[in-house]
Amino acid sequence: MSNIPFVCKKCGSTTFKVASKPKSLDDIDGAVCEKCGTKMTKKEIESQARNIALDALKKAGLKVK
Ligand SMILES: [Zn+2]
Repeated sequence: MSNIPFVCKKCGSTTFKVASKPKSLDDIDGAVCEKCGTKMTKKEIESQARNIALDALKKAGLKVK
């Protein structure tokens, strides 16, 4: 899995192992970093997803607090 736009909090890797093909955040819950084995919690994934979404909105020219 290299198409998940999340970063490992420990080693910075963006490659994670997930149980199945992720279709929602619930499926990504418990994803494990392929490099160091750190487990991502849903909470961490959600907060990163929020930041990514905010960045996308800012790049689109929207003002986001
Ligand atoms: Zn890692």
